[in-house]
Amino acid sequence: MQHDHDIIIVGGGMVGAALAARVGHAGFSVGLVEQGDIPAEPSGDYDLRISSLNARSLAFVKASGTALPEERSCPFRHIDVSNQDGTGHSLFSAQDSGMDDFGIFIENRTLQYALWQRLQQLPSVACYTQCAPLSTITSSTGRLLELDNGKTLSARLIVGADGAKSTLRELAGISVSSYDYHQRAMIINVETELPQQDVSWQVFTPTGPIAMLPLPGHRASLVWYDTEQATQDREQLDDEALKAAIEMAFPKRLGNLIRIVARASFPIKRQHAHRYIGKRLALIGDAAHVVHPLAGQGLNIGLHDADTLAEIIIQGRDPGDYLNLLRFECQRRAANQAMIAATDSFHHLFTGAKPLRQLGDLSLQLAERFPFAKRMMMQQANGLNPFKMR
Ligand SMILES: Cc1cc2nc3c(=O)[nH]c(=O)nc-3n(C[C@H](O)[C@H](O)[C@H](O)COP(=O)(O)OP(=O)(O)OC[C@H]3O[C@@H](n4cnc5c(N)ncnc54)[C@H](O)[C@@H]3O)c2cc1C
Repeated sequence: MQHDHDIIIVGGGMVGAALAARVGHAGFSVGLVEQGDIPAEPSGDYDLRISSLNARSLAFVKASGTALPEERSCPFRHIDVSNQDGTGHSLFSAQDSGMDDFGIFIENRTLQYALWQRLQQLPSVACYTQCAPLSTITSSTGRLLELDNGKTLSARLIVGADGAKSTLRELAGISVSSYDYHQRAMIINVETELPQQDVSWQVFTPTGPIAMLPLPGHRASLVWYDTEQATQDREQLDDEALKAAIEMAFPKRLGNLIRIVARASFPIKRQHAHRYIGKRLALIGDAAHVVHPLAGQGLNIGLHDADTLAEIIIQGRDPGDYLNLLRFECQRRAANQAMIAATDSFHHLFTGAKPLRQLGDLSLQLAERFPFAKRMMMQQANGLNPFKMR
């Protein structure tokens, strides 16, 4: 049977667009279904949604021929983790792991725009925008996808990359387990007197971590995790009062703030799909898993899903072959489960009861004393898993 595409990807966010670009670059016929419009070129000040891209994610994005604009991204070479009272502290340097840097911080919209630019250069990729799936059924050699614009498309594999509230996951009858941390993350973009440098730091407090992600020049993205109530109260503050609250709570190393550029807050939840695959169907990115963002790994593990799936598709003959999809599920579930467990333990170790927090401090001290353990943690965080769970 002739299909419209080899692969249809639902969701043109960073993860879906990255998979489309990689397999499209390898010559597969791809249909990308996105409910929104073609992303607009980012301009003006930095957006609130910033992500870190680690070594493996960067290599994957670049393998599709996508060029990322250097002027809107910020490499970081050190990660500094401590607790508020100074009893635990660990500094991770890329150099110690034999790397120039750990990766970059980049706005989500800049990455998504760069990927879509690449998609538009690839003759084997067709983008269907402003439409969403209504239903999906399998055929003998593929899967059909009925869209809400009246079109029905068919492919040998359909991939759901449509985010945490994935419609494709729902249509495939795949359920999730979820957990609410009862925390919110307030993201605040600021202009600082000091130029921000190549270090990203995070300080654990009993109610949640506070973090600084450097942006080019005198800009930084601050992340302030706290209880839902405390965040809601903070949201009511005007810019001057919020600036004063940041200067009180954040370490002095941030330096004086010139102004608050933008702010918003997000609920913190984790979620894991019970299956990543079905007949001629796979889930990747937030459609498959949502992790606590404190380690900045949600997008990275989504891109690692896309990388593993792309490798399996490129090596195999039939993109929807069930045994190959099983290989994808085995490899990625193990790695993602490990990341969910790690971020969960970080959360509970540093924001739990005092004995747990003391254990958290001890783990930072141990990481500082045993360079081998530190190197392994860094490799894991960079997607260069020493245990090879790719
Ligand atoms: C506060 C916060 C900070 C974070 N910081 C980091 C970080 O530093 N590093 C990191 O790695 N991760 C971070 N993350 C996580 C990261 O943002 C997500 O993991 C990532 O955005 C997931 O990408 P995705 O493409 O899978 O999903 P999404 O970004 O949700 O994209 C889904 C796409 O699918 C489209 N779509 C949805 N439904 C449909 C439909 N029915 N039909 C068609 N299209 C549809 C949407 O329009 C969208 O384009 C953070 C998350 C939060 C909340």
